[in-house]
Amino acid sequence: MKNKLPLHLKILIGMLLGVVFGFLMTKTLWGKPFIISWIKPWGTIFVNLLKLIAIPLIVASLLKGISDLKDISKFAKIGGRSILIYIGTTVVAITIGLLAVNFIKPGKGISDETITQLTETYAGNSNIEKKLTTAHQQVESGPLDFLVDMVPSNLFKALSDNGSMLQVIFFVIFFGIAMLLIPEEKSKPIKDFFDGLNDIVLKMVDLIMLGAPFAVFALLATVVVSSESSEILVRLLAYSGTVVLGLMLMIVFYSILVAVFTKKNPFWFLKQLAPAQLLAFTTSSSAATLPVTIERVEEHIGVDKEVSSFVLPVGATINMDGTSLYQAVAAVFIAQALHVDLTLLDQMTIILTALMASIGSAAVPGAGMVMLVIVLQAVGKFTPEQIAIGLTLIFAVDRPLDMLRTTINVTGDATVSMLVAKSLNKLHKPKPVNWDDNIDNILPK
Ligand code: ASP
Repeated sequence: MKNKLPLHLKILIGMLLGVVFGFLMTKTLWGKPFIISWIKPWGTIFVNLLKLIAIPLIVASLLKGISDLKDISKFAKIGGRSILIYIGTTVVAITIGLLAVNFIKPGKGISDETITQLTETYAGNSNIEKKLTTAHQQVESGPLDFLVDMVPSNLFKALSDNGSMLQVIFFVIFFGIAMLLIPEEKSKPIKDFFDGLNDIVLKMVDLIMLGAPFAVFALLATVVVSSESSEILVRLLAYSGTVVLGLMLMIVFYSILVAVFTKKNPFWFLKQLAPAQLLAFTTSSSAATLPVTIERVEEHIGVDKEVSSFVLPVGATINMDGTSLYQAVAAVFIAQALHVDLTLLDQMTIILTALMASIGSAAVPGAGMVMLVIVLQAVGKFTPEQIAIGLTLIFAVDRPLDMLRTTINVTGDATVSMLVAKSLNKLHKPKPVNWDDNIDNILPK
């Protein structure tokens, strides 16, 4: 039977069924342990598969991208432009977050009673403590440590750790530049090897994505049974609403950028990107979503590999518009709830540190909350106890907000890759829509 439902619809159906199933299971005594033991592992396997191919894909696609460049100066242009636009979109995101939270003032509605109750509920919560400890470790690093961290001393160690994406990118760029500098007949076998590898890994993404509708079912059912009681969620509604509003404004902002600078229809853009966005939402990890983002942006949106192979992996690591917007809202929300007055200068500090924090946040679930600690510390008006209480306050809604901000992070990366491609005449007509989303197109006839 031919099954031609578009991939994003299949994923959406899987998500809806996962939420309904998870919700029904919370009504039974055995539901949660059943999902944790028998359903969750399928979601974990899927995320592992995506992470498994992330590094081979970055290596193959970036090397192919660089080796296709005829001259290195073009690479400097791609790098320079993408980093500038990344910084620009992040500053816009933080500013939107700050305007929204100052205007709506969600923290004013939080009573001291709620604060005490939430603090008692989560006192000594090991997850919150872990985030505080990780943040303290990060603060202790020096100003140039990020550069030092980018240069690996051992390639295989860097390749073996998904957290060292920038180290891998550094090595591949270095290797690729050297490759361009030697005679072509010598570099050809290596280039051919990585060309082939690139196609194979992209096909692996297609194959893995066939399981996406089932995996999102498992992942969302797990999120639902593990989530907090709805009573707490309701109390934090104004705060979550502010973050959500800001994130939605970012989608409007990206749509305007796409329409104005690439002359493409933003709805078409969002539809092509939808499977990556839905996956970002379900996995809460830009890094795990990266292979799918690359596949969608190259094959379905038409961004040339020369651009996407650099802009997307770098973006997944350093560009987190959703995360920085969330950090701005959360920092001011905590200040409002704990009656800490923030001056304009404090808010400027938030812009600067949230920008740095978005660069420093790992592209994994919950990383944004760790870096929030650094933003709060930089403001200099919160005692360590207040920071702990602040995290406690927003902890209950962190997962759903993480899902949404990760979606924005991925959309931001894709938008920037389109803008950079357009500015360099590297935005092509994509291949036919959905050509590889169905099993009959993937397997041999
Ligand atoms: N989960 C986010 C991401 O992977 C980071 C965060 O905001 O926690 O993009």
